[in-house]
Amino acid sequence: MPITPMEIYKLLPKTNCKKCGEQTCMAFAFKVVNRDRQIEECTPLFEEEKYAKQKEQLLEMLEPLKEASETGLIVDESKCTGCANCIVVCPVHAAEDAYGSGSGFGPKIDDPIYRLENGVLKIINVQRCRRYGKNRILCVACRENCPSDAISFLEG
Ligand code: SF4
Ligand code: SF4
Ligand code: SF4
Repeated sequence: MPITPMEIYKLLPKTNCKKCGEQTCMAFAFKVVNRDRQIEECTPLFEEEKYAKQKEQLLEMLEPLKEASETGLIVDESKCTGCANCIVVCPVHAAEDAYGSGSGFGPKIDDPIYRLENGVLKIINVQRCRRYGKNRILCVACRENCPSDAISFLEG
């Protein structure tokens, strides 16, 4: 399930105290989802006993952020069957090697986003993904074409 700013916001102190440097708790929640800020930077949450339960819930909710790539991508290797669908449908791969991608052999470019290693999907070059960086597009082509739900994104 994607982690949304609203889910985070609901568990923050919601006092808009600005101790984290943001104008509002909601602004902070957006930045936590984007991994521009760490939840630990909300000091009231960690210092005031009355927020202890919310803090625990938030830390648990945000645990997947630690294993996600810079694009929010998570590959569950235990589910990957090595079918290569995700590699073939990626628009970046198709744009650079239309024949290789379209033929089902996969792109023959030197620095693909994904590659199969021992039958399991590995991220090679996440910077080339359309979800990477400030001007990202929320592409989900690889996730939508994974028959075994091995791919997920934190933000939908
Ligand atoms: S420090 Fe925490 S409570 Fe204060 S504005 Fe930031 S997120 Fe909200
Ligand atoms: S999100 Fe889109 S651009 Fe990024 S790897 Fe998946 S299919 Fe390719
Ligand atoms: S589409 Fe899914 S199962 Fe197939 S290689 Fe990609 S991650 Fe693995």
